[in-house]
Amino acid sequence: MLNRFIDLYSDTKTKPTPAMRQFMANAEVGDEQKDEDPTVLRLVEKVCGLLGKEAAVFLPSGTMCNEIAIAVHCRPGDEVFCDRTAHIVTSEAGGPAALAGVMMHPIDGARGMYTAAQLAGAIRVESRYNPRSRLAVVEQTSNFGGGSVWPIAQIADVAAVARARKLALHMDGARLLNATIASGVSARRYAEPFDTAWIDFTKGLGAPVGAMLAGPKDHIQEAWRLKQRLGGAMRQAGIIAAAGLYALDHHVERLAEDHDNARHLARGLAEIDGIDVDPDLVETNIVFFDVVAPGWSAGELVAKLKLEGVGLGAFGPSRIRAVTHLDVARADVDRALSVIRAVLAGRLH
Ligand SMILES: *Cc1c(COP(=O)(O)O)cnc(C)c1O
Repeated sequence: MLNRFIDLYSDTKTKPTPAMRQFMANAEVGDEQKDEDPTVLRLVEKVCGLLGKEAAVFLPSGTMCNEIAIAVHCRPGDEVFCDRTAHIVTSEAGGPAALAGVMMHPIDGARGMYTAAQLAGAIRVESRYNPRSRLAVVEQTSNFGGGSVWPIAQIADVAAVARARKLALHMDGARLLNATIASGVSARRYAEPFDTAWIDFTKGLGAPVGAMLAGPKDHIQEAWRLKQRLGGAMRQAGIIAAAGLYALDHHVERLAEDHDNARHLARGLAEIDGIDVDPDLVETNIVFFDVVAPGWSAGELVAKLKLEGVGLGAFGPSRIRAVTHLDVARADVDRALSVIRAVLAGRLH
């Protein structure tokens, strides 16, 4: 029997379910950039409620949410603080420099999370020589930190330092709802200290397109100007906003299954010779592990596993990432484990 490809590369690999597609097909639509799309307006209202913000703007991607937010908060030459592993540093093609003209000030946090003391130590004094320290960014959950969840107390401490030093605060909430499901802390509470925050519909939520940036009315008004400038303003966008609405109604609680599957995967990996992983570090749907078997690099193992029907990501000489999601069932995790075990044992070639 031919096995289906098990794609653990990312939770972006989810495909819209038949029910989601049906909901999208039936969506009422209008001209989004004229505020005439009723489905987009419903999604805006829903996300404002979810995050406890005054206003929100629907954007094609989370990357655009980050890039627009940074440009709204900062002037060219300003300095932005974040963890060294943050998506805005590693994965947005230099956007903060190219689009907002800002300087990034990466902090060496632990598992993607820096402390209030580290932030306080990094912020510069007001001086004609210094860049203007302007914005602190928190990524909840931290992707390259291994899906780690920023504790609410650590966020509060970071926010207190930022406020005392007159910094603005932005949350990259690509996987905020994973944090919420894992911790029981509401999205609104996590978002509360931040001026701007966004969620992605295309990660664990399983929608094909879209993210939404929320914040104060004046910030979102300026965000709209940048959205228009970048060509992110859309037309009958309700067809994709519908997927976001559907996901918020049907795909949030089930994130717990992804977290359970990720822990199951990590525990299984820990029992395989040649793999190094600490299952206790797995808090949500992301598992980082190292291949330490002699003769294997991460790239080679990932390439081999792809041929055997298991997709993973190589993120360093020995580091590999696996992400669980809507299209990965418990049985898929078990099969991935047995394929990895067999490949490393030399039983598949
Ligand atoms: C995926 C991701 C983004 C970007 O979102 P896209 O919708 O893919 O542009 C930003 N931040 C984090 C932490 C992410 O994982």
